Amino acid sequence: MFDYRFNNYKGIDVKHYRKKALRYYGDSCNRCGINENLQVHHKDRNRSNNELDNLEVLCYDCHSEEHKNEFKRERCPETGRFLSEEKESDVHV
Ligand SMILES: [Zn+2]
Ligand SMILES: [Zn+2]
Repeated sequence: MFDYRFNNYKGIDVKHYRKKALRYYGDSCNRCGINENLQVHHKDRNRSNNELDNLEVLCYDCHSEEHKNEFKRERCPETGRFLSEEKESDVHV
């Protein structure tokens, strides 16, 4: 708990990183530009690091592409969604 960023955001802003990222970067995919099925990606894969420079707005397709080599074993076989990261992103903003 020595990470000042974690302490700053705990209980205050950690649930709002999606809104923060979308407000800052805009509500469209950073890679292909569409504005549907948007998710917020953690560039360093650390979901406790919600600094803006660690966040990236991606659509579901681009986000899947980003992680396709990482979480193969943890994808839901029915939906194809990743089970280990960013579950909250199923909620559309
Ligand atoms: Zn995209
Ligand atoms: Zn991600």
